[in-house]
Order: sequence, then C-alpha cells, then structure tokens
Amino acid sequence: MHDVIIIGAGPAGLSAALWCDELGLDTLVIEQAAEVGGQLLRVYNPIENYLGARAANGRELRDLFAAQVEEKEFDLWTEAEVGGVDLKAKRVRLRSGEELQGIALVIATGVRRRRLNVPGETEFAGRGVLESGRLEAEAVAGEDVLVVGGGDAAAENALLLAETCATVTLVHRGKSLRARAEFAERIKSDHRITVFTETTLRAILGGERVESVEMLRAGALKPMRMAVRGVLVRVGVEPNTELFRGQLHADERGYVVVTGEQETSAEMVFAVGDVSNPLAPTVSGAAGAGATAAKVIASRLSGSGK
Ligand SMILES: Cc1cc2nc3c(=O)[nH]c(=O)nc-3n(C[C@H](O)[C@H](O)[C@H](O)COP(=O)(O)OP(=O)(O)OC[C@H]3O[C@@H](n4cnc5c(N)ncnc54)[C@H](O)[C@@H]3O)c2cc1C
Repeated sequence: MHDVIIIGAGPAGLSAALWCDELGLDTLVIEQAAEVGGQLLRVYNPIENYLGARAANGRELRDLFAAQVEEKEFDLWTEAEVGGVDLKAKRVRLRSGEELQGIALVIATGVRRRRLNVPGETEFAGRGVLESGRLEAEAVAGEDVLVVGGGDAAAENALLLAETCATVTLVHRGKSLRARAEFAERIKSDHRITVFTETTLRAILGGERVESVEMLRAGALKPMRMAVRGVLVRVGVEPNTELFRGQLHADERGYVVVTGEQETSAEMVFAVGDVSNPLAPTVSGAAGAGATAAKVIASRLSGSGK
C-alpha cells in the first residue's frame, strides 16, 4: 500500500514525485520506459523557456531532472508498464501481473505522436519512415522526401530536411498550413519544398525500404504515386488515456478533464501534465501541475488523519 502511485515519469510525474517526497508521502512512480524523462528524450531543439535551467536539448534537461530525483527517497520503477487500473479502488496492475494499491493515484502518462495508420507506416519504420528530421537529415541527404502534417512540427522538419535533401514535399489534408507565420514564409521561399494542401497520404510503398507513396488530392478520382526515399509523419499527438477510458471524464479527444486542483472526476485520482493539458503542453506547465497535485494530496491525507 502506497500513499500515492504516480503513473509516468515525464516532467509532470517527476515533479509530483519530488513534491510528494518532500511532503512526507510514501510514493511510487511507475514508468514503462527504461529511462525517466518522457517526451524530453525526443526533444532535439534547445530548451530556452524553462525557468532556471537552459538545455541544449531535452535529454540535457532530463539529466538535470534525473539527477535531482535520484537523491530522493521515493520508489521509482522503470520498464514497468501499467496495463490496467481500477480508479475507484485505486488499484494498479502492471503488465507483468503485479498488483499495487494506493490511497491516491496521479495520472502523468503524457501524450504520444499520432500515427496515420496507413499501410507501410509500421513496416518501413527505420527503413525510410523517419523518426526525426533533425537526427536523420544526413541519412536521407540528396534524396526526395515527404513530410506529412500542417503544423509547426511538420513545417520545422520540412525546413530541416530541405537543408540536405534534393526535394521535400509537404503534404497536408487541410486547405492551408497551420504552422506559425515564420515557418510558412520560409517554406514559401524555399525552392526545394513543394506544398500539397488538401491531400492525404494513403500508403507508403517499397521493397527493402521506402520507394514511393500513394496520395489522394481532394476532388481527384484516383490516387497519385510519387517516388520518395523518406517519409516523416508529424500529424499531432494524442493522450495516453486508453487505460482510464470509461472511468473518468475526458474530452472528445481523450484528454483527462481536471479541476483547478488537478483532480479528475474520480475521487483522489489526479491528472497532471500533457495528458490533461491539450491547450498549452509545456515542461513548466507539467512541473507546476505535478506540484499542485502533490500539495492537494498531502493536505487531503493530513486532513484525513494520515
Ligand atoms: C519535439 C518537442 C519539442 C518540445 N519543446 C518544448 C520546449 O521547448 N519547451 C517546453 O516547455 N516543452 C516542450 N515540449 C513539450 C514537453 O516535452 C512536454 O510538455 C512535457 O514532456 C510533458 O510532460 P508530461 O510528464 O506531462 O508527459 P510526457 O513527457 O509525455 O511523459 C509521460 C510519461 O508517461 C509514461 N507512460 C505512459 N503510459 C504509461 C503506462 N501505461 N505505464 C507506465 N508509464 C507510462 C511515458 O513512457 C512517459 O515517460 C516539446 C515536445 C516535443 C515532442
């Protein structure tokens, strides 16, 4: 039995754990990945907007977080995936079969990249379907590549890839790009980038690796094929909330709805960070929400005579 079980060790979960520990709560953090840090492990741009620490990339900031929490007393289990929860009973089941009991639960499971779920997307991962424009620009240097998406992430990656690739085709299903004006202007004036709006990717094709894609433009009767050697998908994110479906209030996209105290519609179940913050997902927001939840839990438990 733990006072608090925190699911997820990204910035939100770690901040909640740090505060719970400081407030004297018996705390267990469960993280499915081998390392703590969540999305920070995939941030390759400098982080200049987190108060008190500047980092060349997400991993550098994560290392600061990891060093700080290592000194603390709370239990942290990595490579431990939560496979089921009973929010009412505050019971958590790991994929390994172990069952854990808390008085309060904190959901800090964050978000994941949305997938297109088109044929070839999984099959060609690492064989032409790219993980990161920044990391893999050299691997596809001189090649024709396709980027899918219309937001900042897609635009930024298209610009990055255009520095090394022969051509970049940016495909977006909407009528115009949603990316910030600075990116949109740079894309317009970059002769290596072609933008196809109102177009959807239907399939990624190839043999040993990606060789072409099939796309459908709005109003067209037949899909068109285009030869490319790389495909990068950046079509937004979705919350990791499948585990909790039906047990708490969530919005239409699955984000957990919380009160100002970070409490969900299930009593003594809190949600912090990106999983409950679709509008402004940031490291600072995640850290702040984690701290709020911990303080509320501590005051509730002390009020209950714990
Ligand atoms: C490319 C990129 C650039 C960014 N740049 C910035 C920036 O400059 N400044 C900024 O403030 N923010 C930035 N962000 C956003 C920032 O990284 C997030 O807001 C922050 O990581 C959210 O923290 P979180 O703890 O809520 O979720 P996450 O970081 O998503 O962590 C969630 C954790 O929960 C774990 N988890 C999920 N499900 C389970 C389960 N079933 N069992 C166990 N563990 C589970 C995951 O493995 C993960 O470790 C950026 C994000 C990206 C992707």
